[in-house]
Amino acid sequence: MKKLAQEFKEFISRGNVVDMAVGVIIGGAFTAIVNSLVNDLVTPLLGLITGGMDFSSLSFGIGEAQFCYGSFISAVINFLLIALVLFFLVKGINRMRRKKEAEDKPAAPTTKVCPLCKTEIDLHATRCPHCTSELPEEV
Ligand SMILES: [Zn+2]
Repeated sequence: MKKLAQEFKEFISRGNVVDMAVGVIIGGAFTAIVNSLVNDLVTPLLGLITGGMDFSSLSFGIGEAQFCYGSFISAVINFLLIALVLFFLVKGINRMRRKKEAEDKPAAPTTKVCPLCKTEIDLHATRCPHCTSELPEEV
């Protein structure tokens, strides 16, 4: 029993479990934003463009069976809308991230360490200013 508790503790404290939990929670909150964006802003706009067309009530019946292909079309359109909105969101976030990465990138080194006296000297120096030894050509 003690071993099981130990294993459980290890499982819980593993980094990726916590990361995943955060991801799921953020994902849930994010879903609400995307749904609201699609349902409250994009769908009315689309309704305005298509003249308030509503597919969801379309259906046909063969004998006893009722095929509600209208709601299937609605689901497909909803999926495409959400995918499109997500695409633009991710595109925007990626651009922001790339910009930040470019800012964070460290500057190229301008100095090197003399192999003989181990002091820092100019990157292009051919003779060390400290120990005056000639340096081998840069590889
Ligand atoms: Zn030196």
